[in-house]
Amino acid sequence: MRTVLKFGGTSVASPTALESVARIVGSLKGDRVVVVSATAGTTDGLHAAADQAAAGHAADAERIMNDLAKAHANLVADLLGVGGADVLREITDLTERTIALLRSVAILRECSARSLDAIVTYGERVSAPIVAALLTARGTPAEAISAEGLIITDDVFGHANPLPAETRKRVQTELVPRLANRTVPVITGYLASTADGLTTSLGRGGSDYSAAILAAAVNADELRIYTDVSGVMSADPRIVRDAKPLPRMSYAEAAELSYFGAKVIHPRTVLPAIEARIPVKILNTFAPDDVGTPITADPAPDGSVVKATTSLGALGLVTVQGAGMSGVPGFAARVFDTTAAEGISVLMISQSSSENSICLVIPADATDRLRASLERMFSAELRRHDVERVEVDAPVAIVAAVGEGMRGTPGVAARVFGALGRAKVNVIAIAQGSSELNISFVVQEAERDKAVRAVHEEFHRA
Ligand code: ADP
Ligand code: ASP
Ligand code: MG
Repeated sequence: MRTVLKFGGTSVASPTALESVARIVGSLKGDRVVVVSATAGTTDGLHAAADQAAAGHAADAERIMNDLAKAHANLVADLLGVGGADVLREITDLTERTIALLRSVAILRECSARSLDAIVTYGERVSAPIVAALLTARGTPAEAISAEGLIITDDVFGHANPLPAETRKRVQTELVPRLANRTVPVITGYLASTADGLTTSLGRGGSDYSAAILAAAVNADELRIYTDVSGVMSADPRIVRDAKPLPRMSYAEAAELSYFGAKVIHPRTVLPAIEARIPVKILNTFAPDDVGTPITADPAPDGSVVKATTSLGALGLVTVQGAGMSGVPGFAARVFDTTAAEGISVLMISQSSSENSICLVIPADATDRLRASLERMFSAELRRHDVERVEVDAPVAIVAAVGEGMRGTPGVAARVFGALGRAKVNVIAIAQGSSELNISFVVQEAERDKAVRAVHEEFHRA
């Protein structure tokens, strides 16, 4: 049996959590590969430090780094006492190196995506040796290993894409043989490198993705994602207090849920697991005996229609509207080409059947840029009034109801929108994927929580 275990930010941020991590890893039989996140809040802190440096405020950036280093040193002192001397030295080295990077950013007043990746991955570089030292001290020999040179990606810094064949080759030659000597590798999540060794990162929340990539590359029998809740829940527990952990779900449902904001699992995580048909389980570090949520290809149907309701905020709706667009071939293509040329990702599209408008949902901070660029693209049409206007509505949120049981069940949309109507939530745009696995709609950001609660209540009434 070979298991990859990933521990998230809160699972490595306190002595209580870390002792639990040591017990979980120590009690598991067979080959184990551990993947760790930065401690909760650290990656945010590093981004803040990089922002300060880019604004020329080297001293502020340095202060943030010293605070982060101190917090980690305290953790080591609490857990390992004098036994933590080696790890403390490593933290000091890593901190000094990161401060040097921040100083050069401050001199240039410019932080490239490549420099940013070198800075914001500090968190995982320090948490891995802490976890490895703790495991060793509690009777499970372990060693910290950087994912650089193991997970190989392209050079899209900040959001790199793994190269599976190259990754597999490196992992098979450099990581798998180590498993035979019974020392548990503790690998840095989130970060990776290009084939020639430049540090990259896999995007925010990317440690889940690291774990899935590694699970596929080591031919794991199971991927366990340990977090601070007892599985994937029927809604974000911070929004819906009586949300319940789901007894099981499919890869497809997990992919939809994470795409539309369920932070519990990174959107791209399930792909390597699906391809390698590795079962994924979401478990709670703080309640390791809870059953959690297994995610597999074909879970037995459980009679539910909507399994979970999720939402994603800080978005903007851009609408291109005008009667002169009806039936004009290539119109939508020009809208999407413009969006792609700006490098903006589109989360949802909706077009009315009269073809009078096309709506795109994109990150809120990109709406003004896209509007200006669409106005340039359609300047002639705007002058002729074939295109009436390019409108922006922000901030908005997407809410999605997800579940395999929706497929072929009549009346689901009526129940979703009936519940929203009763809650007096105004729906701005609607989309349903042809997979019938989700119904998603756009509401004003201020109505997001109310909308999630209304849909959740409709399908999960006790
Ligand atoms: P980690 O650091 O362990 O990766 P995250 O903070 O990234 O943890 O994800 C776990 C959090 O996701 C939970 O604490 C919870 O607040 C949030 N969350 C949002 N939607 C859901 C959901 N549907 N089910 C479970 N957790 C959710
Ligand atoms: N530390 C990274 C982040 O906060 C990756 C992760 O936690 O998964 O985004
Ligand atoms: Mg996470």
